[in-house]
Amino acid sequence: MNFAVDGMLGKLARWLRMLGYDTKYFNNMDDDGILKAASEDGRIILTRDYQFYRKANVQGVRAILVEGETHIERLANLSMQLNISLEINIDESRCPKCNTRIRRASKEEVTGRVPETTYKIYNEFWVCPGCGQVYWKGSHWRKINNTLNQARQIVAGKKGLPKLSQQSSGQ
Ligand SMILES: [Zn+2]
Repeated sequence: MNFAVDGMLGKLARWLRMLGYDTKYFNNMDDDGILKAASEDGRIILTRDYQFYRKANVQGVRAILVEGETHIERLANLSMQLNISLEINIDESRCPKCNTRIRRASKEEVTGRVPETTYKIYNEFWVCPGCGQVYWKGSHWRKINNTLNQARQIVAGKKGLPKLSQQSSGQ
């Protein structure tokens, strides 16, 4: 599944990239431009705009109306509509900034490109070949997993499943 995300869902686009989905974000494009691009690439359009959602479906381009007010609720909603797994495998992740698939990097490779304390503490790094951004599983990583955990709880609740345990991903 590949996605075309409209201007209202930029944050969701970043999450989908982290989850490994090829996601184009159209910040300043009109509906027809997004429709054309999505149709050419075979992308599913994600939008909060009901009129745009209907227009896409009338034109035969698959679109999903994303519900929820917070990005956690939106992730849960999308997971239920498209059966998306809310687990990040960082080796499959794309750069949240530019959508390029990130790759593992050796410690030597990131020398001088991360803060000194980070370099000392962490041994696993990933880099984006597109924009050069370096990633590691720092404190931000825990927040990411907490967010996904909350989204999974919502999904479990809506499906009537027992609540999942609150354990972190153990990475
Ligand atoms: Zn990048």
